[in-house]
Amino acid sequence: AAMEEVDVSQVLRDILPIINNEAILHGVIVRYEAMLDLPRVIADRELLKQVFLNIGKNGIEAMGEGGYLTLSERVDMEERKVSIDIHDTGPGIPMFVIDKIFDPFFTTKEQGTGLGLSVCQRIIHDIGGYIRVSSKGYGTTFTVSIPFP
Ligand code: ADP
Ligand code: MG
Repeated sequence: AAMEEVDVSQVLRDILPIINNEAILHGVIVRYEAMLDLPRVIADRELLKQVFLNIGKNGIEAMGEGGYLTLSERVDMEERKVSIDIHDTGPGIPMFVIDKIFDPFFTTKEQGTGLGLSVCQRIIHDIGGYIRVSSKGYGTTFTVSIPFP
């Protein structure tokens, strides 16, 4: 991987038009909550784009028609990590499914590959971060946390 100092805000701004195009097709509204001066992380910029595109696309696909996809930035100075929340107002993920979503080839979609999240997780683990998911009946939030030096 081509590791470099990456501004995650810039990565999100780069992919926002792509996510937005997809969202418009499904009547979904995309919101972006930026933070000033997000600390830079060490990562492969192109792989990071893939992560947020994959998770964003999953959110849009889960909502079907209409809804909100919100991307928001946070920083934890004590733990020295940047976190991005990707929240959708879709149906949520059933408890019996949530443990499997990071497994390669696990999909609930007719045309799914089931590879998106397993690839995302590998990319984020490789840079010392992690992905958390929280879904309580309605709506889903994926949180991508990445350490900064
Ligand atoms: P694919 O998109 O090809 O199915 P992924 O690895 O991207 O593969 O996702 C695996 C599964 O996780 C999906 O099939 C779906 O069941 C579930 N999933 C992922 N994101 C969401 C979401 N935002 N809302 C509901 N279910 C989701
Ligand atoms: Mg997917």
